[in-house]
Parts: sequence; C-alpha cells; structure tokens
Amino acid sequence: MKKLFVSADMEGTCGIMHWNETERSHADYPYFAMQMTREVAAACEGAHEAGYGEVLVKDAHDSARNIIPIALPEYANILRGWGGHPYCMMYGLDSTFDGIVFTGYHNAAGTDSNPLAHTMTLSVLEMRINGELASELHINSLIAAYEGVPIYAVTGDEGICAWMKEKSPNTTVVPVNFGMGGATRSLYPMEAAKRIRAAVKQAVQRPRESCLFPMPERFQVEIVYREHAQARKLSFYPGVRQTGARELTYETTDCFEFLRMAHFLL
Ligand SMILES: [Zn+2]
Repeated sequence: MKKLFVSADMEGTCGIMHWNETERSHADYPYFAMQMTREVAAACEGAHEAGYGEVLVKDAHDSARNIIPIALPEYANILRGWGGHPYCMMYGLDSTFDGIVFTGYHNAAGTDSNPLAHTMTLSVLEMRINGELASELHINSLIAAYEGVPIYAVTGDEGICAWMKEKSPNTTVVPVNFGMGGATRSLYPMEAAKRIRAAVKQAVQRPRESCLFPMPERFQVEIVYREHAQARKLSFYPGVRQTGARELTYETTDCFEFLRMAHFLL
C-alpha cells in the first residue's frame, strides 16, 4: 500500500496575508485553520484517488496544532506538536514513504511574493544556501532528498511555486496566492481545494525518479539576523564563523550536519 507524507504550513494557505490570521490567539484565525485543513484534505483525497492507501500529515505551522483532525479522511494520520528533531517540519518522514506533498508553503525571507515571507523565524532577515535565498521549502526539500523520497507537489504562494519549478521541473505546483508588498490576490477557497485535489492526483502518478530533489555536494550557508546580539551568541555553534555584526557563515558537505546547524541557528 502506497504511503504519502504531507507537510502542511499555513502562510501559503489560500487567502491568508496577515500574521493575525496565522495565530491561534486571534479572532481571525479559525477561518484560515479551516481553509488550511481543507487544502490538506484535498491533497489526501487526490493521492487516495491515485491509489495511495495511507497518508501521514505533519502539522508544521507554529504550535503544530492547526489542522482540524476530524475534517481529514479516515486513511490519514496526523502528527501534531514538535518532536525536537532536526527534521522539524518534516518530522515523521523516513525512506518508507512513496512521495511527499507540501501544502500552504510560502516564499523565503527577503523575497516579495508573500506579505508573510520568512524563513523559520522572524529574527532571520535572510538565509542563503550556496548563494541563493533559502526558504523553509528549500530546507525541507533537502530532507526529502536525504531520505530519497520524491516531491510530487507543492501548494502555496506563486513565488515559492516558481522556485520549486526551477529546482525540480517535474514537481507539480498549485499557486493559490499572488503576493505583492503587503497585499495578496487569491483564488476562491473551494477552487484552490479543487485544483489541489486534481493536481495531486496527477502528480503522484509520475515516475518516482523524475521528482527527486537534487542534493548538492556541499552546503555553504549564510545567515543574517535582525539583532547583532543574537548573531554573536549563535556564532559559538561548532563550525560557525562570524562574518559581520549580524552575519554568520557555515559550511559542510554532510546534509545531516547542515540540518543540525539549521535546527539550532534558526
Ligand atoms: Zn508557518
């Protein structure tokens, strides 16, 4: 029986554009938690229609307690909360899975395709991997590559979808939000779910090899923090060099060491 792994974030959920809409304590939140759930359920259903019998959904936003479990299909299990493992938003993934779908993903800190663009934390102004602005999707795609599991589909803002298309042309993308500055144009919420379901159904039938994310030979990382004091403190992580008042660099050829560093420094 084929198994799908879904990593679900929120800042690329259809219609979302303000931090209040992503935070449990806010009145604006429940509607977007519902839409996030709807999009995850649509991804599950698409895979199921294509023959997947099992899905593990990692709730991967903030508290990791956003998705409404009863609204997922019965063949889906959900992993809520944080396990403390460097896999973080991908916790629960291993090489026994047949494919991965990312829902609700958003572009990197330092980009302009989503009012909520960031990379792991708001205290990082930008992160670069091998000279390129790095998103959460980038880090998580490297985890997918490390486990050898193909990435079949990504949903979220147009910018992150374009990035994935460039890196992995056979991965299907479903842009639901089109951001500019502090604004976002979005699809009709049910239309977003409809597109996700249909796209995932097609995508998971592609040849596995065609959707494996490329693994780089080395990881040259630069991180710029908002606060110089934080950069100084984190500069004591083994192997890290401070290259400016707010800037650190780190280099390794070992993917898991890269992830371990990211786990502590982001
Ligand atoms: Zn998030």
